[in-house]
Order: sequence, then structure tokens, then C-alpha cells
Amino acid sequence: MRGLNMTTAINRERLAATFSELCEISSPSRKEGAMVACLKEKFAALGADSIYEDDSAVHTGSESGNLIIRFNGTMAGQEGFFLSCHMDTVEPANGVQVVRTGDIFTSKGETVLGGDDKSGIAAIIELFTILQETNSPHPMIELVITTCEEIGLLGAKSLDHSRIQTKYGYALDSCGIDQVIVGAPAANKITVRIKGLAAHAGLCPEAGINALALAADALNRLRLGRLDGESTCNFGVIQGGVAANIIPEQMILKGEVRSHDSTKLWQYTREIVKTFETTVASWQGNPATGDKRPLVTFDIVDDYPALALAADTPVVKRIQKASAGIGKDLQFIIAGGGSDANIFCGYGLPTAIVATGMNKVHSIDEQLDLGDLVSLTELLHALATISG
Ligand SMILES: [Zn+2]
Repeated sequence: MRGLNMTTAINRERLAATFSELCEISSPSRKEGAMVACLKEKFAALGADSIYEDDSAVHTGSESGNLIIRFNGTMAGQEGFFLSCHMDTVEPANGVQVVRTGDIFTSKGETVLGGDDKSGIAAIIELFTILQETNSPHPMIELVITTCEEIGLLGAKSLDHSRIQTKYGYALDSCGIDQVIVGAPAANKITVRIKGLAAHAGLCPEAGINALALAADALNRLRLGRLDGESTCNFGVIQGGVAANIIPEQMILKGEVRSHDSTKLWQYTREIVKTFETTVASWQGNPATGDKRPLVTFDIVDDYPALALAADTPVVKRIQKASAGIGKDLQFIIAGGGSDANIFCGYGLPTAIVATGMNKVHSIDEQLDLGDLVSLTELLHALATISG
């Protein structure tokens, strides 16, 4: 019966209006100020017990901090949880105009829609509107709404997570619907700098050390792409050189390794370092270069930790129980991406990623089906109202 009551309580048109309203507040990364103001107002009206904006803006360069919002709830003694979304979007995001055709939302075609990740925020607002209207008992629910997710999880990395009282949560931030991501890889970012020696390519090529040729040689020796069932490697950027008639002196290469296994992550990272070092060391000089040698240096950033949630952990069990209670079949999957949830896991806050119905994200063709948004809200309502 609860399922029936809850379905009636979700107001599709109100949810649609909230979603459109949020999408039309432009909030590309670092320009989340208007969105923060809007969310503070909305959650205050919904009776939040605490609305806190952290001081991460000094680290992220955003107009705003992350929001940590708490609803204490009335089910004392019941374990609570947090829901997380990011409030920023990718570009182009200026002047988003939402077009609704039947149940499908798109932008007008010049910007992204912003369903990534405003679909999650809209569902949360509808959830608390229903909880308030129906005066439903629920445990403590915290909301962690971050900035700058799209430019390297910057908000989450600077989050004042000591403020979070609940022990686990759900990041509403993935394509598709009725899917829960319970595994995602860790990643290392690798910047390689190769220093050669400039020389005129026509007049005295012998006097040069070609950093581009060394980079190409090293890349050729590397294993790229899928390294094994749980690891990948890519080099995606190469920068350097001045002109076709100058032996290039410096090359900067940017790459990454991802793995679900942190031992392998570092093993592959070391392999990359060794390959560049060996390649550069094997460079053969000549009388014109004298005692000059090429150099290679590395900058390795531990970008985010792995997300790995076992089936018997409270975070997974709660969402299984919630979905079973409303007859929803969820798929539990392993993904290849990194998101805020990885960072929260690194803080000791197990976080599963829940699909919101967002579709064709990071493009001007982005879409969202209202039916999926309703379905997500049903799941959130079940999460909030079952006994943990
Ligand atoms: Zn996202």
C-alpha cells in the first residue's frame, strides 16, 4: 500500500517544473553561485534543519562552496544516509532553455540540458516536498551537493566531510535508469616532460635532441587501451614544439591509468615511468651534441581512489531492500569512470552511484525522460521511508 500512496504523492508536473527551473539556472563549473542561492532557498522552505556552505571555494576557485544540508528526521535510532549530486554542468551552459516534447526534455540545441546532474537534485527536491506534505517519518538524511565535479571532482576533493554525520550514501549521477554502480576504478594522472635540445632543423640538425621523436618512441613502446579486465591506460595530450624548422626541445604528455585494483594501478604507473626513462636513456648522442643528454621528469597525481562496495554492506543492502519493497528491479554494475562517489569512498563514506535517467550527457543533444525522473523519485522515497 505504501507503494501506491507514494506513487500518487509524486507530482509529475511539479517535478517537471522543478527540473526545468534548475536546468535554466546556468551553472557551469566555478559559476555555481546562482544555483547555491536557489538551493538554499528551496531547502530552507522544505524545513532543512541545517544548511551549510563549506569554504571549499578558496581551493576550487568557484563562486561558491559545497552545500551540506541536513534533515534530522523523526526516526531516531534508525540509520540515516546521504544523497549526493553535483550542481555544476559542462559547457556550453549559458542561457539554457528547456524544451519539453511530451515527456522528453532537451535543450534548445545550443547548450547542454544540465540533466547531469540536475535530474538528481530535482528528484531530491520532489522527495522532500512529498515527505513534508505527507508528514512521513524518515531517518536523518543529509544532502551533499558539490561544485566543480566536471572539472576534476574539485568540490568533492575539498569537501568539509567532517560535517557529514551519516555513514554512507548515494550519488545520483549516472546515465540510464534502475542501475546502481557498486564498483569504479581508481586513477592516476601522469604528466611527462621530455626535455631535448633545440637546433635549426636545416642548418645543424645534428646539434638537436628531438623531444617529439623521443616521445613518439616511448609511446610506441607503451601498452595503451585495456591492459587487463580491470585496468586501462591512455595518453590523450601531447604539447610542444615551435616550428617545422626547429628541432623540438620540449614535449609535455598527459596520460592516465585506471584500475579497480590499486596494486595494479601503481604497477602500471611504474611501467609507464620506466618505459619513458628507458627510451630517453637509450638516446644515442653524436659529436655535435657533445655531453648533452635528454631528460625526462614526471608529475604523478593520485586522482581518485577506487569505489568497491560489497553486496553485504549497509549501503548496498539498503537500496536492495528499498527497491524490492516497491517491486523495482535494480541492476548492480561495475563502471569505468571516476566521480565524486570515489572521493567520498576515500573519506571512508561508502557511496553507491544511482542512475537518474540522464542521457546523452556532455552534449547539446542531452535528454531526459520525465518517466525516469519519476522512477528515480520513487526509489529515493523508498530509501527514505524503509527502516534501515
Ligand atoms: Zn555528472
